Amino acid sequence: MVLGAAPCINETIDVSLLDAHGCVLSQDALSTVDVPPADNSAMDGYALRVNDAEQALPVSQRIPAGTVGSALKEACAARIFTGATIPDGADAVVMQENCTEVAGIVSVAGPVMTGQNIRHRGQDIKSGDTVLAKGRILRPQDMGMLASIGCARAKVYRPLRVAVLSTGDELFEPGSGALPEGGIYNSNRYTLAGLVHNLHMKFVDCGMVKDDAEATKQALLNASELADCVITTGGVSVGEEDHVKAQVQRLGRLDLWKLAIKPGKPLAFGSIGNTPFIGLPGNPTAVFVTFCLIARPFLLKMQGVVETESPRLQAMAAFSVSRSGGRQDYLRVMVENTSQGLVAKKFSNQSSGILSSVSHSNALAVIPPGVVVSEGDMLEIILLDSIAG
Ligand code: AMP
Ligand code: MG
Repeated sequence: MVLGAAPCINETIDVSLLDAHGCVLSQDALSTVDVPPADNSAMDGYALRVNDAEQALPVSQRIPAGTVGSALKEACAARIFTGATIPDGADAVVMQENCTEVAGIVSVAGPVMTGQNIRHRGQDIKSGDTVLAKGRILRPQDMGMLASIGCARAKVYRPLRVAVLSTGDELFEPGSGALPEGGIYNSNRYTLAGLVHNLHMKFVDCGMVKDDAEATKQALLNASELADCVITTGGVSVGEEDHVKAQVQRLGRLDLWKLAIKPGKPLAFGSIGNTPFIGLPGNPTAVFVTFCLIARPFLLKMQGVVETESPRLQAMAAFSVSRSGGRQDYLRVMVENTSQGLVAKKFSNQSSGILSSVSHSNALAVIPPGVVVSEGDMLEIILLDSIAG
């Protein structure tokens, strides 16, 4: 339901390819060239005609990469280097390790096959091919792909602006001195800054707001005007100090509240004016998990990304769980590759306030409601690198 409500951003920009890492293509990238542009050598060696390979051959020319040789003379070989264009007439390249050249005459050891060590024109990309589709996040290798077809710029969606607001009278900024009694450091702001940056979106830092109805309303309104999506932490639970939900209802609407997941039950979703709103819980581990599971795919969809799902793997439980409750549990686990395959070890303290459980884990193990897990059972896992990396 949340994903279905994600409006795709419609502003596009043109970025230099060097600045395109993590951006999302707003149109298909089509090639107007063949890659490689000509048949070329995959080896340092000798280009020749297969039919001549059994004779000793005079070396009639030398073709380094970047130069173009002339057509291969009858019963001759050309000295050739990796990446150099195959001269007309040659139909194979023999690697130099299999050749002996003495006084300008080369002989070849072993059989030679037609086409060997030749990289054919267009074997990677053909003119007219769609090399990358619209909605694709540009990874480093994709930047290379675009460069290989001669693109210097890419048409991408403008990176989303994501406003992040932390609520709570108890919060103090790290660096603001020793904590007064009753205070804690605001960690959610920093977790979310990292998570938003990992998505290559703009982190719009809206700081902290006190547990006060009017202040919360103002802060939400301000955030909604600055950003494409507003994310808050805390203040969405059931206590009378939780003001976020009521103020969102005043300023816009609430479409969802509470999910049957653990950690992260008090999640809220709606809008402030026309700006989508996601209210994450306050507990730091719940913030991390709900951002990765709910906010991340939502934001990616808003950003124009087509593939918002992360792959899930299977790992063997190195622990047991007595019947889980009515909520789907996302246990923080450390997955290791062993001779028995992937094995998941559970972090000792799974409380939603224990941020160490995320820092010292590399995956979430998905435990559906009402399930009993015995040691050795196979579990579905989500690697943190795939959702938060
Ligand atoms: P709340 O939902 O506002 O009741 O918060 C739930 C728990 O998360 C409380 O223990 C809060 O102190 C804690 N919490 C809320 N916001 C933050 C934050 N920004 N950083 C660290 N802990 C927080
Ligand atoms: Mg609070």
